[in-house]
Amino acid sequence: MTEWVPVIYGIGLDAAGRCQHYHLETDIAVLWCRRCQRYYACYRCHDTLCQHTFVASAPTDLAVMCGACRYRMTVDRYHEGQCPHCHRPFNPRCRLHDQVYFLIDEREVQSK
Ligand SMILES: [Zn+2]
Ligand SMILES: [Zn+2]
Ligand SMILES: [Zn+2]
Repeated sequence: MTEWVPVIYGIGLDAAGRCQHYHLETDIAVLWCRRCQRYYACYRCHDTLCQHTFVASAPTDLAVMCGACRYRMTVDRYHEGQCPHCHRPFNPRCRLHDQVYFLIDEREVQSK
């Protein structure tokens, strides 16, 4: 039996899930839209392809997938900065978009 490999949606994708908006070596993380139940290269791709805006995922969702090896992980693993499976680094600048992609735990925010 072959394992299910999720499809990556986006515009101008390459083999590692980079899109026309983000195409650095490290732009390999793809993000889960909770409403679509699909992975997108970035929220800009999502919002172009979908009628709704990107719906952030919960901390328990496998919200991020490594475009290089297709390993899926939670936000916490993603924030470690590299793929836990193939160890390729993720672009740290993606943290700027955390509030788009992830539901931030409010208790955690208040304690900082
Ligand atoms: Zn969606
Ligand atoms: Zn994109
Ligand atoms: Zn990987």
